[in-house]
Amino acid sequence: MECENCKLEMVNLFDSNVNPANYATIMLHIQQCPSCQSDFEKAKAVATMLKPQNQPSAPILLKQNIMNQLKMEEEKMKTQEVKKVNLNSRFAKIIGVAAAVVLIMVAIPIVDNTTNVFNHSARAANSFIEGSIRATQYIKSMVINLKVRTDAYDNFSLVGTKYELVNHKIFKTFASPAKWRVEKPGRTVVFDGTNQLIHIAKVNSYLKAPAGYNVTEYFQILLEPEKVLAKEQNIIKSDGSKFIMDEKNGQVYLTITSNAKGNFINDYTKNSSIDESDNRREYIFDKETKLLKGLRIFILEGKKETLIVEIESIDYNVDISENLFSLNLPNGAAWQELNQVATSEIFRNISSKRAAELFFEGLSKSNWQLASQTFQLLNSNTDGAKRIKENYGGLTLVRLGEPFKSGQYPGEYIPYEVKLKSGKTIKHNLAMRNDNPNKVWVVDGGF
Ligand SMILES: [Zn+2]
Repeated sequence: MECENCKLEMVNLFDSNVNPANYATIMLHIQQCPSCQSDFEKAKAVATMLKPQNQPSAPILLKQNIMNQLKMEEEKMKTQEVKKVNLNSRFAKIIGVAAAVVLIMVAIPIVDNTTNVFNHSARAANSFIEGSIRATQYIKSMVINLKVRTDAYDNFSLVGTKYELVNHKIFKTFASPAKWRVEKPGRTVVFDGTNQLIHIAKVNSYLKAPAGYNVTEYFQILLEPEKVLAKEQNIIKSDGSKFIMDEKNGQVYLTITSNAKGNFINDYTKNSSIDESDNRREYIFDKETKLLKGLRIFILEGKKETLIVEIESIDYNVDISENLFSLNLPNGAAWQELNQVATSEIFRNISSKRAAELFFEGLSKSNWQLASQTFQLLNSNTDGAKRIKENYGGLTLVRLGEPFKSGQYPGEYIPYEVKLKSGKTIKHNLAMRNDNPNKVWVVDGGF
């Protein structure tokens, strides 16, 4: 395949109905051609930013604990008919086209001025947004202190009204290459200019992922302040979110109210992330410098509002120690690479339920060769892998329920009940996805 064709047809990879033969041809070229690979990474990054269900596979383990935090309801174990919903493949394709031309870098007017001549607020918003994009090009560094209602030890996108507010810090230098660090008590991610380095305290794991992986999830928007408004503009345009812009005491207030996104025929993941909640986002910008000064996000449940995210301070152009942009490996620890492509033959061309059954069979017989084909962590020598083998090896599978989809998760949840050799019974939903090049089912979390 020629580069020119590849760059044109790359768009089709973002369509969930892509022809598998085409997919394979394009991927083969991308894997061999650095130029197309770089374009593909960019397209993926933009697609991720615009529509989370197109994100490249989130690393295994990161979502592990989400499901532990959500109570599994008994009725989910019963057979239930879950309608299959085709998640908007046409929209995905349009996003892909946009991604290919990196349209996102250019401000897209919220409304067409010729048809909405009298819409003062929208026009004011457009001009402010364009000014803000220019202003942020002059930032050299930034430090954000914020609080998020989440589990300190879980992935970055998990939020919930029942959690405590947890302190987070974001550091970024906009030098070339840009570097950043996002941290909370149980988890740190550093981008050192080449790789994303992740430390997960709970399982004491050190992971390494390429630049294109979506590890920081929701925080991507704050890591790229120049894109905050462009992204919000796109959301307003694409889903009709309501917005109000106001100006007071030298500050500009932009308030956006959105409905939960995703498929909630089964509402298992409702309100477990910001996008999957009805929410209101209140931005404050400095009118003069046009820089972001504050943000508060609320989850809305009927008349009840819960503060979920609050920026306490943002400082621009401060000195940041270079040490913060590296992560040191303790003696005896090793990086676990997250860029391995799943290649298992056993875990493809089967249903998610069968894949879950095989995974539990592996755990039950302590057959790590089998279980690690769908859960790569088991191949590593990490504390996390050891702990899982000790706790879950020799378990008994009591029952499996019918798989269901929920929210924006690109895979499926499979309800299960197991009995550990310690005698403890666990009922949860195993999260599995197969949105990878070889369509292999991989375990994402939920145990
Ligand atoms: Zn090429």
